[in-house]
Amino acid sequence: MYCLDIDSLTGILTRGGFISRAGNISPAGMAVIWFNLDNFKMFNKRFGFDRGDEILKEIAMILGSIFPSDDSNHNLLARFSDDNFVVFTEWTMAEANIESVQEYLYSLHENVTLRLRAGIYFPSESEDIRLSCDRAKLACDSIRKNHSISSCMFHDGMSRELALQQYILDTLDAALTHEYITVLYQPIVRLSTGKICGAEALARWNDPEAGIISPAKFIPTLEKYREIHKLDIYAMKRVCSDYMTRIKEGLPVIPVSVNLSRLDFELCDIIHEIELAMTLSSLPRSMMNIEITESINDEDMTVLNLGIERFRALGYEVWMDDFGSGYSSLNVLKDYSFDTIKFDMKFLHGFDVNKSEKAKYIISSNLEMARLMGMQALAEGVETPEQLEYLRSIGFDKAQGYYFGRPMKLDELFALERGIEIVNA
Ligand code: C2E
Ligand code: MG
Ligand code: MG
Repeated sequence: MYCLDIDSLTGILTRGGFISRAGNISPAGMAVIWFNLDNFKMFNKRFGFDRGDEILKEIAMILGSIFPSDDSNHNLLARFSDDNFVVFTEWTMAEANIESVQEYLYSLHENVTLRLRAGIYFPSESEDIRLSCDRAKLACDSIRKNHSISSCMFHDGMSRELALQQYILDTLDAALTHEYITVLYQPIVRLSTGKICGAEALARWNDPEAGIISPAKFIPTLEKYREIHKLDIYAMKRVCSDYMTRIKEGLPVIPVSVNLSRLDFELCDIIHEIELAMTLSSLPRSMMNIEITESINDEDMTVLNLGIERFRALGYEVWMDDFGSGYSSLNVLKDYSFDTIKFDMKFLHGFDVNKSEKAKYIISSNLEMARLMGMQALAEGVETPEQLEYLRSIGFDKAQGYYFGRPMKLDELFALERGIEIVNA
């Protein structure tokens, strides 16, 4: 029978199974050890995926024999992902056992050099097990390039990043309440008219203690710890209230895109939240577009597909964000329906109209594909007039980027250009 707690390849625990069981064990006197195999990707390429799978099973077997789980101990063993294994064990034996693991692995593979790196962390009383695992992983990652040692203990220097993550999680609610988090708007331009036809709402966190915290830091953290829906609901409500203020004053408005995480569909009833806010602020659905990034996992497929379809049936446009930034882009396009594709700014990185022949082929053929599927195409990250001219010449519908304007306050966006193309609310 398929069980979410057990890894089907190796028969040991999955991350989920590990986290739920470890939560019942007191961390006092325990160690978390994060193991990762060096160059596993290269190994797969050289010897094939079947041999790769064999190695993973072998590692699970070795770890299981050196950290056996029985009535006399609390040992837990899991495969978190790919070649990442985690052990929760008593700290007294941690280091000696890591050496035994290495020796065992060497003895099985005399011809191929395999190094299983280990990062060790001793959690304090009542510490969150997920944080403890992150620390063990940081220690493991820190010796990736140092081939003279194969294990390393976590130390405080590694924790700056984790401290920020913890700060973000601890202060999110206060930051929302005190409005340290706000929303700025970046113009979106229709290329056929050269006029602003929309805006993207982007969250900004200006913290009185930590200063400006970049979305590149707080978005992944909130996703990782499954708090992202709080930010997304807040940002969407903020947009509604900014728009209501303008409408009450008789000022023009244009459609705005809000960013949703695919996790919002799991963590809350995001459609209900948006519908409620839109009704309360009397905004028509044509005024709000939904952006979803392409990094969609297979597991979310049904929930997300239903969500996208419901949004579209209600009359919202759904846009695919950051198309081309990950390896799943084409499959996502195949499996989901979008109204607009936003081409990731990486397409234009280092772009030179006279030289970048390959980039031009890629951009124009993907544009053609969007056309054939009946979707509009928007180019992100436009920074120069040459890029703009090229995109216009090949028929992009919309563009966005510093060339037209950085994210700014809503009033500033409307003041940017007198001849804004106005879509009446
Ligand atoms: P995104 O949705 O792809 O947003 C575009 C990002 O590119 C923004 O970064 C914007 O400031 C930046 N950008 C725009 N034009 C240019 C350009 O010409 N050159 C360069 N180098 N950059 C440009 P930002 O605001 O830092 O946001 C980063 C990402 O964080 C966003 O990428 C989006 O995925 C996420 N994000 C931001 N706000 C929210 C939010 O409220 N909810 C969720 N779930 N994600 C958000
Ligand atoms: Mg976006
Ligand atoms: Mg984007």
